[in-house]
Amino acid sequence: MSAIKSKNTKPEIAVRKLLHSMGYRFRLHRKDLPGSPDIVLPKYKTVIFVHGCFWHRHENCKYASTPKTRKEFWESKFKANVKRDLEIQEKIKNIGWQSVVIWECEIKKQDKLIIKLENFLNF
Ligand SMILES: [Zn+2]
Repeated sequence: MSAIKSKNTKPEIAVRKLLHSMGYRFRLHRKDLPGSPDIVLPKYKTVIFVHGCFWHRHENCKYASTPKTRKEFWESKFKANVKRDLEIQEKIKNIGWQSVVIWECEIKKQDKLIIKLENFLNF
């Protein structure tokens, strides 16, 4: 049931398609980088993580609800996920790369997502 480490998920593929249509070249799941990022743009020293809103706790997002039953179980699980995400982002920063998180819910608004990506990649 863990959706955390799964690869080639639908949202991830959508982001790849979008990047491709924008003309960016990228690599996938580079094991030599912290967190083995979903999408890697070596030319821009940028990694992209495509995060599910529920598992990775997108703040103020309607998809990041907490199940009513076994609340404590979920909360500790979520806490661990968020902690891990932050640690990975910190490690990426420490090697001089930037990391971008794309939330699953952002993929639906492609115009906005394109602007976000361009802002990150044309700094
Ligand atoms: Zn969200």
